[in-house]
Amino acid sequence: MILKARYRGGHGGGLPLDLIGHFIAPYLIRPKGEISMDSHRCNLCGKCQMLCRRHAIYINRKRRIWTIYPNRCDLCLNCVSHCPKKALDVSK
Ligand code: SF4
Ligand code: SF4
Repeated sequence: MILKARYRGGHGGGLPLDLIGHFIAPYLIRPKGEISMDSHRCNLCGKCQMLCRRHAIYINRKRRIWTIYPNRCDLCLNCVSHCPKKALDVSK
């Protein structure tokens, strides 16, 4: 089955008390670029989802969908540097 990568806008859940981190801060300090995933390399191991402290990556193994919420991502590159398949990169 083909693996799908989704790049979602908006927030899509999370803690109400984290409003500043999710909504306000990204507009003040907007990082340049977005995380992109190479679906030919990714094996949906889940490491990026587990390591992301901003909960910006969600993986549905059953449906084989890898999703990123760019508005939550602060481009710390933790996921990029730890992906065992080197499937993640930053696109400008
Ligand atoms: S860590 Fe890499 S291989 Fe694993 S799910 Fe994330 S993108 Fe895919
Ligand atoms: S760069 Fe950092 S914040 Fe963005 S998805 Fe990866 S681990 Fe999460």
